[in-house]
Amino acid sequence: MYETLRPTVDGWFDEFIPAVEKFAAEHETELRKYTVAGRFPAEIFAEMGRRGWVGVLAPREVGGLGGGVAEYCTVEEEVGRWGLVSPQTSMQAQRWLMDWGTAEQKDRYLGPIARGELVFSESISEPGVGSSLKAMTATARRDGSDWILNGTKVHVNLGKESGLTLFYGMAPEGLTAFLVETAQKVEAVHTDPIGLRLLPTAEMRFDDVRVPASAVLGEPGKGLDTFLTTFNMSRLGNASDLIGFGRRALAQAILYGRDRMVGDNAVTSFQGIQWTVADVYADLASASMVRNHAAEVHDRGDDPSFETSLAKQTAIRAAERAVNECFALTGGHGLYSDTDYGQLMQDVKVLRVAGGSLEVLRNFVARQILRSESLKGL
Ligand SMILES: Cc1cc2nc3c(=O)[nH]c(=O)nc-3n(C[C@H](O)[C@H](O)[C@H](O)COP(=O)(O)OP(=O)(O)OC[C@H]3O[C@@H](n4cnc5c(N)ncnc54)[C@H](O)[C@@H]3O)c2cc1C
Repeated sequence: MYETLRPTVDGWFDEFIPAVEKFAAEHETELRKYTVAGRFPAEIFAEMGRRGWVGVLAPREVGGLGGGVAEYCTVEEEVGRWGLVSPQTSMQAQRWLMDWGTAEQKDRYLGPIARGELVFSESISEPGVGSSLKAMTATARRDGSDWILNGTKVHVNLGKESGLTLFYGMAPEGLTAFLVETAQKVEAVHTDPIGLRLLPTAEMRFDDVRVPASAVLGEPGKGLDTFLTTFNMSRLGNASDLIGFGRRALAQAILYGRDRMVGDNAVTSFQGIQWTVADVYADLASASMVRNHAAEVHDRGDDPSFETSLAKQTAIRAAERAVNECFALTGGHGLYSDTDYGQLMQDVKVLRVAGGSLEVLRNFVARQILRSESLKGL
């Protein structure tokens, strides 16, 4: 929304932003069909990969952009804004592989993921474990030099469509991450979420899945360290999606309300409506600035956990307000499923919970303020 995100790659924003708008407009009808059906638009995703919009973090040698958190956030905000399929988990995979992957793992996976040829998923949540990793029940045990994985994972975006998933389980050494090639090994059954429907979820059953020692990402027992590598980025990805959703809701509602006459007056000529526009815009602008600051802290290598949590908290509130209030401008028109507003409300609800719920974010933010001598500069 505000161009204060500091790019790592000069000039890239200028090309990407108009190109993604044009691409989304060309595929609008198709994307709407996939959303209603709750299906992954594989060909659109593959094309985004060929255009370099998936491999934003990977180095140029493997077909990536070599960008940073600012580029990652920009991709997420624009896909949210135009209703495209999000490459967030694939971008996170690039970070995981670059930070923790062996030469063999990078060789095998980094290029295909960056180019959008290999779909990636994250198998972390379990039926009894969402917000608390300590309670994880999935297991990993050794059998000779191999590992045997067991457990059920739920809510896994692209679990059924992915060729590679990152599985977290308890090994004798502690929480451990494994790169599992899912084909023929893992039973995945689609579930039916109300939001982010271009990324279908699945329940994944790991039933004595045998993987070689080379499947461990990082070291046995270091699962929490690998998890934390993308933890802050993921919050900024969610915040950026939410800002994109809010921008779409407000922009579409203004375009409608400007032309819609109620008697002799356009909807946007009413002062009550103008205040709504100002309030929603102010929240989105604030969320955007908090997100931009967090991305900058992250890109310069400082601990960004407070800033990223604040960014997602602010973005949830701003997006909720935007999609709730846009109905003030659209009236009955906005209450039909051939407009985006209803689906956007549901998309926002998913990100209110998934990847760090609003309550968990607020707990963390409050603790940081209350424990700080300076009250975080208040
Ligand atoms: C559509 C969708 C896609 C998802 N994609 C993935 C994925 O790809 N991979 C994956 O591994 N997981 C995924 N998730 C899982 C998601 O990250 C979890 O749903 C989330 O972590 C919350 O866990 P839970 O649903 O078990 O809620 P719970 O942990 O059971 O929490 C229930 C409620 O209690 C609140 N709560 C929890 N702790 C506290 C506290 N201390 N104080 C106050 N309130 C609290 C929470 O905010 C929540 O509202 C997805 C979820 C959804 C819905």
